Amino acid sequence: MGKYAIAIHGGAGTISKSSLTPEKEKAFKDALEQAIMAGHGVLQQGGSALDAAEMAVMQLENSPLFNAGKGSVFTNDGKHEMDAAIMCGKTLEAGAVAGVRHIKNPIKLARKVKEESEYVLLAGQGAVEFALSQHIELASAEYFFDDYRYQQLLDARESGEVSLDHSEKKKQKFGTVGAVALDVNGNVAAATSTGGMTNKKYSRVGDTPLIGAGTYANNKTCAVSCTGHGEFFIRAVAAYDVSCLMEYKGYTLQQACDEVVLTKLQDIGGDGGLIAVNTDGEVVLSFNSDGMYRASKVNDEETFTAIYKEH
Ligand code: ASP
Repeated sequence: MGKYAIAIHGGAGTISKSSLTPEKEKAFKDALEQAIMAGHGVLQQGGSALDAAEMAVMQLENSPLFNAGKGSVFTNDGKHEMDAAIMCGKTLEAGAVAGVRHIKNPIKLARKVKEESEYVLLAGQGAVEFALSQHIELASAEYFFDDYRYQQLLDARESGEVSLDHSEKKKQKFGTVGAVALDVNGNVAAATSTGGMTNKKYSRVGDTPLIGAGTYANNKTCAVSCTGHGEFFIRAVAAYDVSCLMEYKGYTLQQACDEVVLTKLQDIGGDGGLIAVNTDGEVVLSFNSDGMYRASKVNDEETFTAIYKEH
């Protein structure tokens, strides 16, 4: 049986030990653990990297702790508009949705776009119509409502800021979720899902659903899922750049991730991080912010879970 591996993130940002109570820290770690075990279970049974990545992201979407699915942040007009993407490294097929409302698990819809449509990216109401045709589960506004998130919106509106998840007075946290996986057949896949930015306007779309920016997978190199200030990740074409540095410059996975996160993004002010796995089962969890909710598991080795820079 070939090697298999999975890594997940639940967002990056100014996450310090003092900003989380021990209870909250435990809740985050438990949620990460649950998601990684769900994805790992798929791989362990010989399932595909795509299925594993989708499964892990779905678990994180169902948690109120992260800015995706149930825990999505509010837009300026008090709604939830979610973005998601999934990509298969073997076929380079991809599916994505942008600005979708009332979808319980946007990652499932992205997978349907990949498999049941002739398109790669569907947006807004059209994407929801496609969801209906695919019998994708919808959820009411109450399902997505969260007092804490609503307070974030009120604060952001008051200050006139478009803030990233849980940003506490300019301190930024990005709660997007993502997963990358390698299966026993040597295929990699990436999946990412987000509610975007608190107080966002004008149907703003971030890097998450843009193939090559927030999400990318290619069996020649690696699978990548990003989290951070989307506008910078779009301009850096961050996920694809990691793959390109490996393919064209012969960088190792670690070198490619460091170059993109610690140099290229850092130089333009792009806070955040990414997770990546290559076809040898190497995992890199790289970020230029104070912390990143993250976890990984290779074969049946011990699960790694961490939040802060020093863990
Ligand atoms: N990258 C996401 C966006 O800009 C935000 C995040 O990572 O939390 O929409």
